[in-house]
Amino acid sequence: MEARGEPSYRTEQLRRWVFDRKARSFDEATTLPKELRSALGSEFSLTPLEPAHIARSRDGTVKHLWRLEDGEQIESVLIPTSDRLTLCLSSQAGCALGCVFCATGHFGFRRQLSASEIAAQYRDAARFARSEWTRAVDNVVFMGMGEPLANLEAVHGSLDVLHGGFGVGARRITISTVGLVPGILELARRPEQFGLAVSLHAPDHDLRARLMPIERRYPLPELFEAIREYARLRGRRITFEYTLIDGVNDATALAGQLALLMRGLSVFVNLIPLNPIPYVDLRPSPPERVAAFAGALRARGVETAVRTPRGRDIAAACGQLRLESE
Ligand code: SAH
Ligand code: SF4
Repeated sequence: MEARGEPSYRTEQLRRWVFDRKARSFDEATTLPKELRSALGSEFSLTPLEPAHIARSRDGTVKHLWRLEDGEQIESVLIPTSDRLTLCLSSQAGCALGCVFCATGHFGFRRQLSASEIAAQYRDAARFARSEWTRAVDNVVFMGMGEPLANLEAVHGSLDVLHGGFGVGARRITISTVGLVPGILELARRPEQFGLAVSLHAPDHDLRARLMPIERRYPLPELFEAIREYARLRGRRITFEYTLIDGVNDATALAGQLALLMRGLSVFVNLIPLNPIPYVDLRPSPPERVAAFAGALRARGVETAVRTPRGRDIAAACGQLRLESE
């Protein structure tokens, strides 16, 4: 606005349209003069996303498949509970890391998302939630397609926009990672208290390496050193994700090993029975084994929740909707 010789209150007007009103185009900013709107529109874009498909689960979960400008497709998921609405965002189209149980991993890597493509998922999903349910998004989790810490520059930019622009509290934003050590250390040096969730899935090197190739590059001891540094610098409880796969990583002895690994850290463990995906012969652990695993962790003083898979009827496992659409 300054460069255009506009009065300074225009900046505040525009900020309100873009962040408070969540405008998708400058044409919506009707308090700005028409010429200014079209000048902004010809020079900048607010990256409106086009829904290629909207899937609604019987349990209330809504999944958007967004078509990007170059035809790539990514997903975001709205997960309502009685007390809060969580939005799950994608950080990459596809993923290069190849975890065996993950639908996104099976596409391989397509391309990085830009900061604006990540932030636009928040804006457009929040608009949907407001118009359909008159609800606001409470929590944002980077648990959709892709590995956020493998797209650091854009993810940092999107955090600036979500937190500094849209005003989502840092403690309401969680970044989930497969365990990329440099990215964890970089995130630890930001001043905000973003939540960190680490996808563990096994407390043992060989087993983890079988499920998640990244274990060979950043093995558990190195990963836990970085996690401890994050906890020390940011003073936040660390979340661990552990997907329970029938007969693979669900023995109660592994729960004991897991508790040892996390010793001294303030943690929260989410146990998620596997969401089965096509082409892969892995099954979720049966409920009694899930309960035994949770019990073994709790008996060792580890705070643990069992997550019921949401939206099974709409292909809710990350990347699954796109897999089906292709
Ligand atoms: N790349 C990041 C974030 C996206 S995946 C990461 O791996 O953490 C978000 C979570 O979904 C991860 O914990 C991942 O392990 C888990 N996940 C992937 N496929 C799954 C499936 N089929 N069933 C259950 N959880 C799955
Ligand atoms: Fe990538 Fe995460 Fe899927 Fe692994 S679980 S392939 S890191 S998106």
